[in-house]
Amino acid sequence: MDTPLNFTVTERFLRYVTIDTQSDPESKTCPSTEKQKNLGRLLVEELLAIGVSDAHLDEHGYVYATLPANTDKSNVPVICFCSHMDTSPDCSGEGVKPLVHKNYQGQDLVLPDDTTQVLKQQNHPELKNQIGNDVITASGTTLLGADNKAGVAEIMDACYQLVNHPELKHGTIKILFTPDEEIGRGVNKADLQKLGAFAAYTVDGETAGNMENETFSADGAKLTIQGISAHPGFAKGQMQSALKIAGQIIATLPYELSPEGTEGMQGFVHPVGIQGHVEHATIDFIIRDFDEDKLSQHAEVIRQTANEVLANFPDAVYQLHIKPQYRNMKAVLDQHPQIVAYGMEAIRRAGLDAKLCSIRGGTDGSRLSYMGLPTPNIFAGEHAFHGKQEWVSVQDMQKVVETILHLCQVWEEKS
Ligand SMILES: [Zn+2]
Repeated sequence: MDTPLNFTVTERFLRYVTIDTQSDPESKTCPSTEKQKNLGRLLVEELLAIGVSDAHLDEHGYVYATLPANTDKSNVPVICFCSHMDTSPDCSGEGVKPLVHKNYQGQDLVLPDDTTQVLKQQNHPELKNQIGNDVITASGTTLLGADNKAGVAEIMDACYQLVNHPELKHGTIKILFTPDEEIGRGVNKADLQKLGAFAAYTVDGETAGNMENETFSADGAKLTIQGISAHPGFAKGQMQSALKIAGQIIATLPYELSPEGTEGMQGFVHPVGIQGHVEHATIDFIIRDFDEDKLSQHAEVIRQTANEVLANFPDAVYQLHIKPQYRNMKAVLDQHPQIVAYGMEAIRRAGLDAKLCSIRGGTDGSRLSYMGLPTPNIFAGEHAFHGKQEWVSVQDMQKVVETILHLCQVWEEKS
């Protein structure tokens, strides 16, 4: 950046992670936990203090804000930056005490509140790229919340910089902070009409320089088995236990199509829950692949496996219901190649090697893209998320801020 920046990203980050925003998959409300609004309210306050005058928190826990254009060009598309405020239900987010390990030299990082929690380079190979940097961790008993408060802090700092550096020319910039991403509901109540953006970038990726334009396509499947019940004392030749059928089906699924047996661009079928008794049982599956067409082939594997197993239980029957969950965003992004291309250009202008990657999962962006807002994911610097050894570096977060500023300018320049 030619403009010298007084970064505010680190102090913002250290402030945000101390607010517990864990989401709850069991809750039926939106946001799933009321406490997420505590962060939302603080962000609105800070945006108003920066001078972003329309910042507000809606009743569903979403934060919206607009940075008006400062360019003479009238044709610059409206671009949105998006991060999620909640943290994972997998690990406590209560009482987070962030620690800054200044000038990291490759040593083990022992977390003081639970000294069995040690970040070693061999378990965190990306730490090799952080020598001399300031690495932030939690204290050992909670997650850190860099996923995705790093993204939130980076977007907030970028807003601050844009307001304070009018020489950085940009079109209208929209900000969206969502609740409940970690429980798959991050965009359920997002008002895209109100946002009015042409494209968005989630800032929720891992390694500095990376951009993700591909996610899994995802279906859920429910297999319902109807068996034959009998008194266990008089069941010989009669009983056909739905539970035993379910167990055999799960045990028979091919390893080559399991999460533990796949990587890279391979898809899988994964049983995530089983319920039942002798007469009736259900298995819930998730089905994942980058290639949408393969989802039905994978569902067919479940069907074939069920047929095979049920051949030995002639009076039992089953039903398989498939429910679409989300789709690979690449198909949408490919229709507007400049969105990813400008992102890559901005990463290079920030002085990094830009690398295009795919995510073995979904993002808010995969659903936003199909709701009409094409949304790739750019790096936020977060690592080892959803656990007590989560970390992020100060220098990576600053690179994200620079990338966002460049991205705003690239859109202005090329319009
Ligand atoms: Zn995230």
